[in-house]
Amino acid sequence: METSYSGKPYFFVPMVSRADRRRALNRQNLLAADTFVGKLNVKIECMTPLHFGSGQLMFDESAKRFAQALLREDGHISLSGSSFKGMLRAVFEAVSESCVLNAPRALPIKVEGLSPCTSNSGLCPACSVFGRLSHKGKLTLSSFYTDAKPTIMSLPRLEQPFRTYPRPRGGERNPFTGNERLYYGKFRDVRGIAVAKMSKVDFFEKKKQEPRSGGSFYGRKFYKHSNNWDELSRQSGKGLYECLQKGTVLTGKIAYQGLMKDELGALLFALGLGWDKPIFHKLGYAKPAYLGSVQLTVESELLPRYEDAPIDAKKIAARYYDENKSSIEAAVCALAQEWSEIGDSKWVMQDGKYGY
Ligand SMILES: [Zn+2]
Repeated sequence: METSYSGKPYFFVPMVSRADRRRALNRQNLLAADTFVGKLNVKIECMTPLHFGSGQLMFDESAKRFAQALLREDGHISLSGSSFKGMLRAVFEAVSESCVLNAPRALPIKVEGLSPCTSNSGLCPACSVFGRLSHKGKLTLSSFYTDAKPTIMSLPRLEQPFRTYPRPRGGERNPFTGNERLYYGKFRDVRGIAVAKMSKVDFFEKKKQEPRSGGSFYGRKFYKHSNNWDELSRQSGKGLYECLQKGTVLTGKIAYQGLMKDELGALLFALGLGWDKPIFHKLGYAKPAYLGSVQLTVESELLPRYEDAPIDAKKIAARYYDENKSSIEAAVCALAQEWSEIGDSKWVMQDGKYGY
């Protein structure tokens, strides 16, 4: 049996056609009338167990073994603001006309129109809000705390993705790195049946028949949610992990300053406000093993300056989507399809391993 895209715990969100770089870096320190200052109180509820480690080990008395410990600050379990910010940026980038920061450079495939921003006078929404080299961004995140009691779980071994694939045969040079069939190619219907269910042999057979031309990335990679975390965790894991249990709630804050209205809209939308159906986000370790599915609750807390004109966060987010629908609709539909329920996706094991 072969792995196919449809048996993987991840999916691809289509990329927008170009980055909108009409922003210049000059707003975040100005209390200009058309920018927003405020705070968001954010609650993170774990819908599946959640692990975020520091590399520290702890001794688990009942198993008489060491386990990877959760990160703590002054004795309290705390998810760092920067972990949350990284997750939020990935979603924000996907639902706005933002650049692609981390496209692998070794590939002969380019992300036309989406190369990373290079100048502070022409920033995409994500670089403007979250920052880039020499620009610190407009958000300040606290850590996220809980006093809940964690549990110890064993997790399956998570394999590294292939470095070179397919393997060169008989001295043949392989110009690609990474897993071509699963990550990029010239077939744009990866979300459809044909490529999604295709085996390695069939894929390269079909590729041979196509004219030689460059391919493209399938999109931005995100992990699916699934209730099958429990099944995965029972399969004689190789390592023990201290995890927050399903139902645990962490709380923290996001402060923002100098956000333009559409940036505030995109931020609130990326946090899950203004969608037809609520979406779940993914945080922390072992995402392919379905850990780290969370539901966010966001409450807007405004500074006194805006008290006379309180903003309705949901309305601002919904308006952002309406105004940007033509460019981000495909991305939003892909996320909504996979992220609006926990579902029962199954990650298929191959030769005793879970490969990416
Ligand atoms: Zn950018």
